[in-house]
Amino acid sequence: MRIAIIGAGFGGMAAAYDLKNAGHAVTIYESANYVGGLASGFKEPHWDWSVEKFYHHWFQTDHEILDLVKELGWEDKVLFPRPLTVMYHNGKFYPFDSIGKALLFPGLGFGLDKIRFGFVGLYLRLTNNWKALEKVTADAWMLKWAGKDVYEKMWKPLLIGKFGPFYRDVNMAWMWARIKARTTRLGTFEGGFQRFADLFAEKLREMGVEIRLGARVDSIKREQGRLRVGGGGESEAFDKVLV
Ligand SMILES: Cc1cc2nc3c(=O)[nH]c(=O)nc-3n(C[C@H](O)[C@H](O)[C@H](O)COP(=O)(O)OP(=O)(O)OC[C@H]3O[C@@H](n4cnc5c(N)ncnc54)[C@H](O)[C@@H]3O)c2cc1C
Repeated sequence: MRIAIIGAGFGGMAAAYDLKNAGHAVTIYESANYVGGLASGFKEPHWDWSVEKFYHHWFQTDHEILDLVKELGWEDKVLFPRPLTVMYHNGKFYPFDSIGKALLFPGLGFGLDKIRFGFVGLYLRLTNNWKALEKVTADAWMLKWAGKDVYEKMWKPLLIGKFGPFYRDVNMAWMWARIKARTTRLGTFEGGFQRFADLFAEKLREMGVEIRLGARVDSIKREQGRLRVGGGGESEAFDKVLV
């Protein structure tokens, strides 16, 4: 089959890799002049590493992407340093990267709030029932189960830090996934994630995937059982399109 993929982010490139391996002819349309999408980075000429436009890391539990890196033969380029995680409270930094350190953190006192914080964290680490959590926002769930004090001091600042004015809209299943999958060590790719994206694109091209950069798709139209992908005044027909 002839398949078009819209977007050369990691999702589009991973799909291209699988589809090409399954024997299809694959063309990726990417509106930007670079690959990597949301996880792309930038680099000054004298820098060895790129810096992600948005802060990115892998958890050690991110098996799908880590297995893909391994399959591509770049396992030795994956780095998992142990960063120093701290909480800022009353003008001081407190280590916060283990259960023991969290228990000693004075910001929640040493009474009921600490217990509620501990139980909520433990529950989210242990439960697999994310479908129930999908029906509620992190804001509502945390207020109910962690309590106002714990939410205001711990979770709300983190949500605001990541989502700004949209923090109230964040789904609790997202929050669960972050806590469930979290590992103390955080991973990156030698040279930065842009380096990984560029290597991946190079590999795809070697495999025969066509990656068109600066190629924004404006339309996808049905035409005699096929799909016509259009952009920049030109169009081409495909059997399937992955958006
Ligand atoms: C602030 C932030 C932090 C994050 N941190 C992490 C993290 O630490 N760890 C982690 O695993 N994930 C993280 N993520 C999530 C991760 O970035 C995304 O899950 C992943 O990059 C999505 O890849 P994708 O290919 O699905 O989409 P995208 O990366 O969004 O790629 C879509 C691509 O499609 C292109 N495109 C869009 N419209 C068109 C069009 N009409 N024609 C042609 N091309 C088009 C875009 O230019 C883009 O390159 C973070 C995301 C954000 C925003």
